[in-house]
Amino acid sequence: KIRTGLVCLSLATTCLFGIVTPDTVSAEEKPVVGIAMPTKSSARWIADGNNIVKTLQSRGYRTDLQYADDDIPNQVSQVENMVAKGDKVLVIAAIDGTTLSDTLHKAAQRGVRVVAYDRLIRNSPDVSNYATFDNFQVGVLQASSLTKALGLPEAKGPFNIELFGGSPDDNNAYFFFNGAMSVLKPYLDSGKLVIPSGQKTMEKVSTLRWDGSTAQARMDNLLSAYYTDRHLDAVLSPYDGISIGIISSLKGVGYGSGDTKMAYVSGQDCEIPSVKSIMAGDQYSSIFKDTRKLAAVTADMVDAMLAGKTVPVNDTKSYNNGVKIVPAYLLTPVVVTKTNIRPTLIDSGYYTASQIE
Ligand code: BGC
Repeated sequence: KIRTGLVCLSLATTCLFGIVTPDTVSAEEKPVVGIAMPTKSSARWIADGNNIVKTLQSRGYRTDLQYADDDIPNQVSQVENMVAKGDKVLVIAAIDGTTLSDTLHKAAQRGVRVVAYDRLIRNSPDVSNYATFDNFQVGVLQASSLTKALGLPEAKGPFNIELFGGSPDDNNAYFFFNGAMSVLKPYLDSGKLVIPSGQKTMEKVSTLRWDGSTAQARMDNLLSAYYTDRHLDAVLSPYDGISIGIISSLKGVGYGSGDTKMAYVSGQDCEIPSVKSIMAGDQYSSIFKDTRKLAAVTADMVDAMLAGKTVPVNDTKSYNNGVKIVPAYLLTPVVVTKTNIRPTLIDSGYYTASQIE
């Protein structure tokens, strides 16, 4: 093939202006995939972005990766630009899952296919597929790690627990919370678990933008209002960044030192500071979501979409986005505590030992 500006002597390699490797040629032939990620403030999304780019590029695609600093208008305009530039498929991890309907309508009119990545895009018929982890199961694992740590179901209790939810504009936050409540509710009903603050709905416990300092401030308030003469035994936390805020609040009033035992605190994403915190005995658990696998599933979806083939999915009932059920591929999350850090995170090659020591 003869490309603009290049006079090639042979089909693939030798050109008057240099060498074009077959890889370069195929990379130029395949379309651009736009990738919209929410924020670089959390390591998980940096890993997601890197893994998607690496996987798609290894399959010959060109990529256009954008981060939006958790700013909704910023993400909307990034996606609009991708559509305007002619990107053929968009992979989007939405900041607010409800804000992209108009933009995606424009994309659909141009025949652009959309993969909702990790977070469901709501209120839009123009989302083709959803690649994610089993989000309800994430919540089940978070809560089960806490009940197990407390010795339930055998232990008599009652144990004091407080709940934190994720960002109320992220569909996942409700799945995590509902999954967790499916485990906690029987114990709350029987009185083995007690929530001294009484705050137990997403409305009361959510944490806008998954922000650790917002969570820390709420934990400070809870401790001074309800725990001056009680011990807090466990905290349901949906995300490592939130767990860090909760733990520093707890430490601020002496938890984890002297006779005051640290509360069991869950988390999610196995971000390095939290893995270190688990090893130090501060955070109790996290959830490992292998972003390499999510990138591979996403790339399989992109391949199928562009080849006009059937997109691989394994769930066609769980994710109603308000307009339609979005066919999804759900990966399996894994709970991590001190005992399985090595096999899960290091032996799998996700982290090196030196990264988390
Ligand atoms: C993701 C979680 C992450 C959270 C905060 C959720 O949508 O599924 O893995 O902890 O966002 O970034």
